[in-house]
Amino acid sequence: MTRFLLERFSDMEIDLRSNLRPQGDFCSLPDFAHGTVTDQSRRLVCRLCRHPITTDAERTSVDGRHVHLRTNPFGLEFEIGCFRDAPGARAVGEATLEHTWFAGHTWEIVVCRGCGQHLGWFFRSPTSSFFGLIRNRLELEAESGGGAS
Ligand SMILES: [Zn+2]
Repeated sequence: MTRFLLERFSDMEIDLRSNLRPQGDFCSLPDFAHGTVTDQSRRLVCRLCRHPITTDAERTSVDGRHVHLRTNPFGLEFEIGCFRDAPGARAVGEATLEHTWFAGHTWEIVVCRGCGQHLGWFFRSPTSSFFGLIRNRLELEAESGGGAS
């Protein structure tokens, strides 16, 4: 009887311990962030609506840098990160070379597919294309912590 109870108890202990572990994708993301492979695929979501926009793996460098600081003709400053692709964003309007920030590249405004917020620009030249996304309009999914803030 005692032995039976002990066995049951140790089973319960294991159950309890495994239940205490974070389960599911959302809770385990911070742990994954320490890995090298999964680190590359952390999702960046729209800060307003949490729609997935792109991932860390899509980060790229343009003119030797991932992050660029640019000022538009209205004097507004934007810190943008360059990404090869951003499936969660869509281009609106027409491509133009006017006031372009990257020589030889046309630009189009891109917005969030979830909420329509302006997220940045899609730049394209005959030989390359990339998204320039405004850094403070995105956040790592792992940082969202649940609930809007
Ligand atoms: Zn959005």
